[in-house]
Order: sequence, then structure tokens, then C-alpha cells
Amino acid sequence: MSNRDNFAEIKPIWLERVSNRLAAVEGIQKCFAMQLAELFDALLDSISDDSINKLIPILQEWINARTESASDPSENSVRSILSQIVLITFDIVKEIFAPNVALDMIGEVLPLYSSALEYVGSYETKLDLQYMTEELKRTRFNLEKLEASKSDFISIAAHELRTPLTLIEGYASMLDDVTSTDRQRDQTGVCLAGIKAGTMRLREIVDDMIDVSMIENSLLTLNYQPIWLNRLLNQICREVNSTVLERRLKFDVASFSGSDEMIFADGERLYQAFKNVVTNAIKYTPDGGKITIDGRLLPGFIEIIFSDTGIGIDPEDHLRIFEKFGRLGNVSLHSSGKLKFKGGGPGLGLPITKGIIEAHGGSIWVESARFDEEHCPGSVFHILIPIRKMPPDEGAAKLFHPLVTNS
Ligand code: ADP
Repeated sequence: MSNRDNFAEIKPIWLERVSNRLAAVEGIQKCFAMQLAELFDALLDSISDDSINKLIPILQEWINARTESASDPSENSVRSILSQIVLITFDIVKEIFAPNVALDMIGEVLPLYSSALEYVGSYETKLDLQYMTEELKRTRFNLEKLEASKSDFISIAAHELRTPLTLIEGYASMLDDVTSTDRQRDQTGVCLAGIKAGTMRLREIVDDMIDVSMIENSLLTLNYQPIWLNRLLNQICREVNSTVLERRLKFDVASFSGSDEMIFADGERLYQAFKNVVTNAIKYTPDGGKITIDGRLLPGFIEIIFSDTGIGIDPEDHLRIFEKFGRLGNVSLHSSGKLKFKGGGPGLGLPITKGIIEAHGGSIWVESARFDEEHCPGSVFHILIPIRKMPPDEGAAKLFHPLVTNS
């Protein structure tokens, strides 16, 4: 009897064993029997032709069906199913036939199986790659859509909030004016102070939202004027003084090279950027800690260094904190006061700071060993500001010409 005839003889037991094993190991349903019978017949033809040509269309069909249906194509790979089939075939042949016949049969079928396995492996890898590329494209598209809708949401929400906020502010100040007698003032004064504080905080958040959406849409325009970094930093120092005293913080602004040099920058925006970093240093440093502002002159830049003895930031978050809503930790544990220890915020301060600094042609980064509320390793924020001796726009250059030539 030929090897082909011997194989034809084991068809029923082969079908039963293969479908049982695949059902148990690969989770393939037993109704797969028809396809298995088709595969077995093609295997017999392959033995006659000494080629896997008849097997290929069936294997392709299996692979395509698996790729279309499986959410993760690495599950139930046809290569692994075929490997199981090869092992079962060899087991049956060894059980049923005499060793020399079995050896001859395995010798005949082995090259066919290895070619089929090799074919399946490369075809599956190709399809998997295609699938993953498509999946990546889809994910990227969805992420871009999400990012765009987030940015749209911010700008729409901010603009919609602005109008009622202006109304509340207006009516609160009218009420303040019309409340004339002392008695009335006592009663309403407390309420008015509350309304004012609330609207002021809300105004800051709305302004931050608008700034973020302007930065994201590259709409931030800078108003270049002569500035001196030491004046900006000392002004911030004065503004936070009462909190510094209340929280028993040590707050030092060093006089460093370059800080007294006149440069052109948007003073208001830089003030906003530095203030965000200082506010964070205060917020994330426990009472009694130390905050230092120092810096140095570099070729073409002035570096400003904000150091604190606060809770620190894990290295894997050093980039994330500059993304919008990149606040860390459990938001529900944040304190409610803006300058209180771990005071909450919407997570927009640093993205705005980064946008402002980068709009000036500078850069910002943070160094911190780790986040550790117990030992407080501290954080160091570095900001590089380019030294501009002339404003970039012609109008401002003309306006400030005498100042530029005198300096
Ligand atoms: P928030 O409004 O939450 O302060 P920011 O954008 O200003 O938002 O900061 C993002 C996050 O970066 C903060 O929530 C905080 O977790 C972390 N962070 C910023 N500055 C410091 C700092 N000096 N020390 C420790 N963590 C900081």
C-alpha cells in the first residue's frame, strides 16, 4: 500500500482526534469538522502531487477568516493550529502502523507540513502587520479627533462661561454700590466678598482655558516690550509675600547675572508664566519649606532656575505635567485653596507656561528625583529665555529705537 493509501485509512480517527484536540486546546468549535475533512483531502492530494498547491487555498481561507473575525489576530493563529495537527498526525501514524511504515509515512509528509507551516507563518505575519498598521492608523485618527474635540470643548466652554461671569461680576459690584447703610453693608458684605472671590477664581480658570486654546491653535500673540527679569521676579515675590509668611516658607530671589539686563519680551505673559511656576512651588512645598529663584547668563539666553523643597515629581511625569490637564495624584485629595499645600488646579498652568516660554523661543523643563511626600526631594524648574536686544516687529522696533540705541 502506498503512503497515500495508508493516510487515507486514518482519516476518521484523524478527524475525530484533531477536532477534539482543537476544541480543547485552541477553543475551536467541533463543527469545524467539514473544513478539517477538506484539509485532510487536500493533504492526500499534496502527497500524490508532492506539492502543497492544493493546501494553500484552504490555509489562506482559514487565515483570512481568522484575521477578519478575531479582535486580536495573535489568538488562535493558524500556525499554532497547524502545528497541533502535525503532532496529532504523527501520533496516529506511530500508533497504527509498524515503525518502519510509520517512519516512511512521516518522512513523506514532513516536508509538506514544513512547507505549509512556513507558508502559513509568513502569510500570517504579513496579514498581522497589515492589521496592526490599520489598527494604528485607526487609533491615531481617533486620538486626533479626541484631541480636536477636547480643544473645541475648551474654547467653546470658556467663551460661553465668560458672558454669564461678566454679568455676575457686574451685578455684584452694582449691589455693592447700592448697599448704602452700614447695617445693610454688614449683612451683604460677607455675601458679596464670597461672590467676588468665587467669580475671581472662575475668571482665572476661564482665562486659563482661553489661553490654552489660543496656544493650541497658535493664536498667542506676544507684545514685545523692554523688560528686566529681576523686576518681574521681585514683583511676584511681593505678590506672594502674605502666603509665604502665612505658610512659613523661606522665599529667596537671588540677583544673578543677566537678571538686570534689559531684554525685549512680553512682560505680562512672562510674569504669568513665572507666576505659575512660583505658585506651584508654593502649592507643592509643605509649610516651613524653602523656595529659591536663581539663574545665570548663557550665550544667547538667560536661564532662570526655580527650586523648591516640595513633594517632587516622578521622572516618568516630567513631560506629562506640561500637557493640558496633566495634574498628578488623586484630584479628590487636593486642598481647595489656590496657594494652600497641594491646592487644586485644573492642570492648565504649566501647559500655558510652556506655551508662553516657547512662543518667546525659549524652553522649560523640570528636574526632580521622585515624588515623595514624606521626604520631599524637591523640584527644580529651568526656564531659558532668549536675549532679544530688539523687538521682532518693525512697529515696536521704531517705538523703542531710542531705548535700544541708549542701552
Ligand atoms: P495645577 O493647576 O494642577 O497646579 P499645573 O499645570 O500648574 O496644574 O501643574 C501640573 C501638575 O504638575 C500639578 O498638578 C502637580 O502635580 C505637578 N507639579 C507642578 N509643579 C510642581 C512642583 N513644584 N512640585 C511638585 N509637583 C508639581
